[in-house]
Amino acid sequence: MAKYKKDIILTALILLSFLAFWLIRSNGSKADPKSVNIYVDGVLLRAVDLSVDDEFRIESKHGYNDITVKDGKIAVTGSDCDGKDCVKTGYISGNNGYIACLPHGLLISPKGDDSDSKGGVDAFAY
Ligand SMILES: [Zn+2]
Repeated sequence: MAKYKKDIILTALILLSFLAFWLIRSNGSKADPKSVNIYVDGVLLRAVDLSVDDEFRIESKHGYNDITVKDGKIAVTGSDCDGKDCVKTGYISGNNGYIACLPHGLLISPKGDDSDSKGGVDAFAY
């Protein structure tokens, strides 16, 4: 149990540090909001163009996440993780929110950012 908790904390830390990195980077850039990056354990696995409907499975040593891209949005539609928070998050668009699957170390986050979401950035930072 203690080991499990430690893994969760470690994964959360990795995700948080990545998120901070992404926020800093996105402040200066004006990237296409219609794409997202998918990371596992902080490593970029693939970039997804949300203008193309797609379904695929991300598999890692932790388990699997089924990803669905539809109508410019992306969601985790299936997973064997505990809690299934990633599935419950539902669909996000390329410039709105992110999906995290902590047990799997999976993070789906927008490639770019725009000024509309600056308030959200502040909320994350503090
Ligand atoms: Zn999950």
